[in-house]
This record gives sequence, C-alpha cells and structure tokens, in this order.
Amino acid sequence: MPSPTVKLNSGHEMPLVGFGLWKVDNATCADTVYNAIKAGYRLFDGACDYGNEKECGDGVARAIKDGLVKREDLFIVSKLWQTFHDQDKVEPITRRQLADWQVDYFDLFLIHFPVALEYVDPSVRYPPGWHYDGKSEIRWSKATNQETWGAMEGLVEKGLAKSIGVSNYQAQTLYDTFKYAKIRPATLQVELHPYLQQTELVRLAKAEGIVVTAYSSFGPTGFIELDMDRAKGAAPLMEHEAIKAMASKHNKTPAQVLLRWATQRGIAVIPKTSRPAVMEQNLNHTDFNLDQEEIDRIAKMDLNLKFNQPTNYFPTEKLW
Ligand code: NAD
Repeated sequence: MPSPTVKLNSGHEMPLVGFGLWKVDNATCADTVYNAIKAGYRLFDGACDYGNEKECGDGVARAIKDGLVKREDLFIVSKLWQTFHDQDKVEPITRRQLADWQVDYFDLFLIHFPVALEYVDPSVRYPPGWHYDGKSEIRWSKATNQETWGAMEGLVEKGLAKSIGVSNYQAQTLYDTFKYAKIRPATLQVELHPYLQQTELVRLAKAEGIVVTAYSSFGPTGFIELDMDRAKGAAPLMEHEAIKAMASKHNKTPAQVLLRWATQRGIAVIPKTSRPAVMEQNLNHTDFNLDQEEIDRIAKMDLNLKFNQPTNYFPTEKLW
C-alpha cells in the first residue's frame, strides 16, 4: 500500500509515512534503505548527525540502478547540524550531504535544532556531534536563527532543496521565524507520542499551514536502545493496556495504533526498524481509523514526558 501524501505549503506532496534513519548501523544501512524502498517506503528521514548518509546514498543508488524507483519517486529529507548554522557554512555542508546521498537536491531540508554551535571543520570530525572537542566541551556560535533561516532560503533559490523546514522548534521560535521568513517553514518535526502530545504546538502549526512530522512515535522504545534511564523507567507504549485493547479491536498491532493516532490527523510519521516484516507493518497502517472514544482515551495519556532533550548531551554542573 503506498503511503498517502500531504501537500506542503511549498506546493510539493510529501508522503505521510516515511522511514527514520537515526541509529541505523553503518554496516547494515545501505541494505536497510534498499529493503525499505522494496517494501514501498518513499520518504527517508536522514541527518548529518546520524553518521550514515553515505550508506543511505548507497542504498538509494542501488535501488535506482535496479529499477525499483526513480529519483523523483523518492522524498529525501535531511537536516542541518548545529555546527553549520553560520550563514557561510550552510550551503557547503548541504552540498557535502547531497554528495553523500548521491543526489542533487533534497526534497526537504530541516534545521535540526534551533541551537547554534561553533563550527567544526568536517576534516577534523564528521559528523561533529554536540561537543567541540568530541568529548564534553560546548562552544556556542553567535549565528542567529534568522541568519541560518536566510541561508536555508538560499538553498531553495539554488535548487538544492525543494522545501525547507524546522525541527525541535517550540511556539516562540516559530513565531520568531514568521517575522523574517521569506519562505515559511513547510514542516515542523518534533517528538510526538501519547506521552508527549504537544497539543498547543500542533494546533499552532496547523493554523499556520505547517505540516507536523512526529518523531519517536513509540515513545520510550526508541530511547531504550540508548540505555536512557528515563526511557527504561517509562511503561512501554506498545504494552499499554488501552493501546493493546484498541489494537485487538481493529485487528492491528499496538505500533499501528500509535502511528495511526498521528496520521489520522494529517501528522506525518517516520518510524524506524531494520526488520522487513515490521517495515511493512509500519508502512501499511493507514486503512483504519480510531473512533472518538479511543481518541479521547489516548488524550488522557499525556504525561508531557520528553525523551529527546539537548540538555541530556550537555555536561551537567553540580547543583548541590
Ligand atoms: P521509533 O519511535 O521509530 O522507535 C524505534 C524503535 O521501535 C526501534 O527499537 C524499533 O525496533 C522499534 N519498532 C519499530 N517498529 C516497531 C513495531 N512495529 N513493533 C515493535 N517495535 C517496533 O524511534 P526513533 O528512531 O527515536 O524515531 C524515529 C525517527 O525519527 C528516527 O529514526 C529519526 O529519523 C527521527 N528522529 C528525529 C529527531 C530530531 O531531533 N529531529 C529525533 C529523534 C528521531
């Protein structure tokens, strides 16, 4: 079943169901991307920071060479890392990322976080990560979000990105962007699952014509791989009694219920798995709808529980 699509404010159509590439091993990444294309995925959500864009590009190139898809059938998303926010660094790094993917444009390019860090040359370390020294030192850049957004707009003007958007923005950063944007963000990618519903932010994005993409749709599950205490301590969403009951009523899996909770409202999803059978399950979940009672039940599950927090990556000072 091909994914339904949603029209972005840039005029381009984006698949509602895509494939996430964070934590996909370099050794298996090309095969994973190839298998996902074979399973029917067309949208791939990558980033400099995932450290696997070359391998993603190999998977795409093989699929195109084998005649599974053409470039124009795919919707390739990537993201600008924090150390490249200075105006003069945006285009060169985008060109490098495009070369890694072996394509000449991104369908969508996002500011990964509204946080600017001091430039680290790719010859020193790539991907650079959060820390200037690769260990613990945080060094800020003076680049403003306005400066970076202007450079992102330049990517569209040069044909390097068809659409541009933002990630990990909250309402204040969005309102600020609206003041100076010549090209409005097409999408907002944020952590979104029943434990972190971001209802007001979703409402704002919708009112402003920005499509929301939910990441980490399964809540703690994606962070257990990182051995995160907060995730290990949270009840797995896929084992939640209410979600399991909805799955059995609709003859679906709990994962499909969690994904449908988003896509039913026009929110895009980008689940990640390396198992082909699970890839198909995640892609083919849009042929049923949750009813109002089920939607109301999930609304009660919000805990404002966020797993992906930049402060987790900063050295913490002793407060007492
Ligand atoms: P996810 O919510 O997709 O969860 C992944 C985990 O769920 C894996 O352990 C996988 O094996 C398991 N899983 C997947 N499908 C399943 C199924 N049907 N049944 C049972 N288990 C299943 O987590 P994620 O990787 O955190 O997020 C998805 C994508 O979102 C990432 O790969 C990345 O592309 C994007 N993302 C973006 C940001 C950002 O800052 N913009 C942050 C995090 C993630």
